[in-house]
Amino acid sequence: KILWLGCCLAVAGCGGDKSSARNYDKEIDQLMDRMTLAEKIGQMNQVSGKSNPTGVLKQYSSIEGRVREGKIGTVLNVTGAATTRELQRIAVEETRLGIPLIFALDVIHGYKTISPVPLAESCSWDMETIEASARMAAVEASAAGLQWTFAPMVDIARDPRWGRVMEGAGEDPYLGSHIARARVRGFQGDDLSAPNTILACAKHFAGYGASEGGRDYNTVDISDQRLRELYLPPFKAAADAGAATFMNSFNELSGVPATGNRFLVKQILRNEWGWDGVIVSDWGSVAEMIPHGIAEDKKQAALLAVKNECDIDMEGNCYPSSLEELVKEGKVSEKEIDRSVRRILRLKYELGLFDDPYRYCDEQREKEVTLSAAHREAARDMARKSIVLLENRKSVLPLGKPRSIAVVGPLADSPVDMLGEWRAKGDPKEVVTILRGIEKTAGAGTRVTHAKGCDVTGSDRSGFAEAVRAARSADVVIACLGESADMSGEGYCRSELGLPGVQQELLKELKKTGKPIVLLLSNGRPLTLAWEKENIETIVETWFLGTEAGNAVADVLFGKYNPSGKLVMSFPYNVGQIPVYYNHKHTGRPFEPNQRYVMHYIDAPVDALYPFGYGLSYTRFEYGEPTLSSDRMAAGDTITATVKVTNAGDYDGEEVVQLYIRDLKAQITRPVKELKGFRKIFLKKGESADVTFDITRAELEYVLADGSVVSDPGEFELFIGGSSAGLQPVRFSAL
Ligand code: BGC
Repeated sequence: KILWLGCCLAVAGCGGDKSSARNYDKEIDQLMDRMTLAEKIGQMNQVSGKSNPTGVLKQYSSIEGRVREGKIGTVLNVTGAATTRELQRIAVEETRLGIPLIFALDVIHGYKTISPVPLAESCSWDMETIEASARMAAVEASAAGLQWTFAPMVDIARDPRWGRVMEGAGEDPYLGSHIARARVRGFQGDDLSAPNTILACAKHFAGYGASEGGRDYNTVDISDQRLRELYLPPFKAAADAGAATFMNSFNELSGVPATGNRFLVKQILRNEWGWDGVIVSDWGSVAEMIPHGIAEDKKQAALLAVKNECDIDMEGNCYPSSLEELVKEGKVSEKEIDRSVRRILRLKYELGLFDDPYRYCDEQREKEVTLSAAHREAARDMARKSIVLLENRKSVLPLGKPRSIAVVGPLADSPVDMLGEWRAKGDPKEVVTILRGIEKTAGAGTRVTHAKGCDVTGSDRSGFAEAVRAARSADVVIACLGESADMSGEGYCRSELGLPGVQQELLKELKKTGKPIVLLLSNGRPLTLAWEKENIETIVETWFLGTEAGNAVADVLFGKYNPSGKLVMSFPYNVGQIPVYYNHKHTGRPFEPNQRYVMHYIDAPVDALYPFGYGLSYTRFEYGEPTLSSDRMAAGDTITATVKVTNAGDYDGEEVVQLYIRDLKAQITRPVKELKGFRKIFLKKGESADVTFDITRAELEYVLADGSVVSDPGEFELFIGGSSAGLQPVRFSAL
């Protein structure tokens, strides 16, 4: 109790400089000198409580006692300014040393104002807006007493069966790295001590997205080269952007669970990258080393984890139950404990919690910022930028002024589904559904009718007739189909990726009416849409767009916003094709049409149905042939690629101009193309712009299994366009 006041003075004595550049070594040393071993271990223990804004303390009475005894250092799942204030009061006023708690929550895509799910946001390719979205989440979360989010999830994923693809940035490590950086910056700002920023956590380190069969928690076994080339770059980007914390992952990698995996953590993260932040286990992942079969009991699990510099045991109860004994037996040194405690305390100083432990619990600010008009507007902007137009063959969109619209399907008026999974404190009552958004925007001259038709899952067709009737009497049908929110996210993996239940049957019935149909999809992963692509002329991918879903959808349907999203994950034709991704290898037997002994299927295409980078606009962008400032690149040279992009259609619009490079001969086999640059540009109709990309050796480099980064002299191909597919190469050589 006395101590935090003392530190408060110490900080104030520094001329108010609370920037995170301070190291706080002196304060930490003094504090640690006074801590018992048990108190130190307490700091390394993280426990979940349940927040209860009305009945403060009731629901987490079980952790209150342990907080009072100094046995808990950080808490997750307790939120709300009043609630956190009370638990914080116990920590600072009723414990021997008065060390404040850090409150953490999975603020993945918004706190109360819910933004699109991360996979959706990523389709905007708009780093500023993505950063702003994370900032908005931080502003709301920090006012509610939180200092730490378990985000961003930066796991690269090539398997849409895996439910957690919805939390990530898709299949590409280059784009994924940019997005990781933007999200870390958004959450953390440039000053951790500012009361409206929160700690970011890059998760799940590492390889989680490569689980076999797309089954969550399953075995991961990938080569070191692939790990370094594909899965690690976004983590490195997050570390370089200053991510304060990392989270271990549940999976094993090459036979060793990530939480105890020394190659991953000690060698790569700590030694090679020199990253010294706090590592938190995933929920119970320390204890899970027992069922994984590499620890006999909690004590051995604790030993493996602590030796691997896992600083915080989240809900595993291994550290509190075993660390003291391990130290007494000499198996763990107090120095090893101190190393972790020092990191944790440093965060608490950097957050300014010793200065004022209640600075984040601000009821007034909580009221002002949460779901503010400005936040809703920002969420709407992020949402419309996340939408990907997949088909618009007859230019049914934008809608113009139809006399009547039938809005049908189970997702037309389903508030909770719009929020997606990991919706923090998102409230369905605050959601603008698709139906509501269309009604509000359609205007007086347009009649809007609604019929659900069927549920997302199940086999009940009894609502079909009403939906078909609604369709028959309308000028245009908006069919709102897809997945429910709880079909993706942790533990929600699927083995079939078509529209669930009888939704496709409903679509077939609607098609028989002959009315123009807009298939408006809400879902958390790429789906298999071969039939839909062939039979439905207008398809809009909206993912789960959050609180402002309906308004954003209406903006796009009625042409108030011209869609600009591009896919960040390939859509397969069918499940048997998975994994299908754009940056695959050429192989010794590359695909050639009508050839037998080449890489192909006899019953499906080899490429994606909708590839990475793909997405349409209401306007049409034409690309000239890229020109190079030189077709030879000597060491140290920069060559500039220029492409003329013209808006040749009828609407103003944004385009994501993408640059890909292929290394034709290297020390190891290389992908057929790799994203190496992108720009999001706006062009008025009729306008053209020269878009340039600078290419240096860095863009030609790749990593070998041992981590060394190399580039080769020789021939390269360069591609520029509005999708990863269908591009013509331009050659250059590196000397
Ligand atoms: C998830 C993490 C999450 C944690 C805390 C785990 O089950 O894998 O992503 O941050 O729970 O909620």
